[in-house]
Amino acid sequence: MATAIIHYHEIALKGGNRSFFEAKLKENLARVMVGFEGAKVEKKHDHFRVHFEKSDEDSVREILGEVCGVENFSFVSSVARDFEEVIARGLEMVQAEVGESEEVTFRVAVHRSDKNFEMNSMEIAKKISAGILPVIGSLKVNLKKAEVVLYVDWGAKEVQLSVKKEPGLGGLPVGVSGKVVSLISSGFDSPVASFMMMRRGATVIYVHFHSYPATGMESMENVKKIVEKLNRFQGKSKLYMIPLIDFQKEVVKGADAALRVLLYRRMMIRLAERVMRREKAKALVTGESLAQVASQTLENMNVVNVLASRPVLRPLIGMNKNEIIKMAEQIGTAEISMQPYDDCCSLYIPKAPALSARVEELEEAEKNLDIEKFEQELWEARELIKVG
Ligand code: ATP
Ligand code: MG
Repeated sequence: MATAIIHYHEIALKGGNRSFFEAKLKENLARVMVGFEGAKVEKKHDHFRVHFEKSDEDSVREILGEVCGVENFSFVSSVARDFEEVIARGLEMVQAEVGESEEVTFRVAVHRSDKNFEMNSMEIAKKISAGILPVIGSLKVNLKKAEVVLYVDWGAKEVQLSVKKEPGLGGLPVGVSGKVVSLISSGFDSPVASFMMMRRGATVIYVHFHSYPATGMESMENVKKIVEKLNRFQGKSKLYMIPLIDFQKEVVKGADAALRVLLYRRMMIRLAERVMRREKAKALVTGESLAQVASQTLENMNVVNVLASRPVLRPLIGMNKNEIIKMAEQIGTAEISMQPYDDCCSLYIPKAPALSARVEELEEAEKNLDIEKFEQELWEARELIKVG
């Protein structure tokens, strides 16, 4: 069996909530390890250990890198408490890390789990170092800033060695912050916004508005694929699909073209509110970024916001498009978002959308639209899909 040591960071700072956070992280680790034969997750004083078959190491590396709340992790190798064995294994591990490099700074970091051992940490480190340095000529000791560190945990019977810390996603384990409802399209932005909320511990419930059959099935199919991708972070998800088309047709017939998108948006928020209440969620989430498009000016965000009973969170508000796309690539949704589709909002888009609408203007426009009737009808036409 092989072992990975998993460190968390923010969780440890959360005082009274600590055990709750740790339980959630354990749950999330157990979930991603389910597919690995014989895998086990073990809680230690201030870290977790995951045990698995050595042959699964590459897959485990990938999967642990996708668990929210993991600050970093490293693979450990256990040997008997014998300097010769420790040095031999340490050499192999350090050599693999150093490769062909000409000069690499290096140190040995020792933690003594067995406090009764006759040598102190410094003495152990020196002795191991002395066994490794002459063999790998490119190593240069630097105790302050080493590129390669051999971590040694000196136990009563065994010694555990590790070399490299693999970065985790950081943040908080999914499930510790309660539920949010994310308005998701198949574009680049909202999947990234959803991910950012999961990384802050929220469980995300998705709602997608479609214009089928006026548009094809693609946007719905793509959203499902995106949610499946994002399920790596939270396991399974609920996805509400709500048809918007009847209302859109009504808007096109009866309202000022410049206000169309904002009228759709206000209807979306009304329906998302219903999802939020039904699911006992605590906030709404969108993928808006300031002034990215006409509907995302501060004024236009306000005409939508006033309808919400809870915070409308916009985790991408200060990000640039290229930063958002980079993140979409990292979480694996970019590939799907890149595919062409007809979004419900690209339908009937006017040439000159309002840039700074006022709430009164929209309320006035809505007087001709029988909002309550549409809200009720669209709500009843919803479909709930369980993904994963
Ligand atoms: P995205 O890349 O997420 O599609 P966008 O750049 O296309 O965003 P807008 O079309 O202005 O921007 O949408 C702003 C936000 O409104 C989206 O990020 C999303 O949260 C929500 N939204 C837009 N269209 C839909 C839809 N069809 N269903 C659900 N939410 C939507
Ligand atoms: Mg979009």
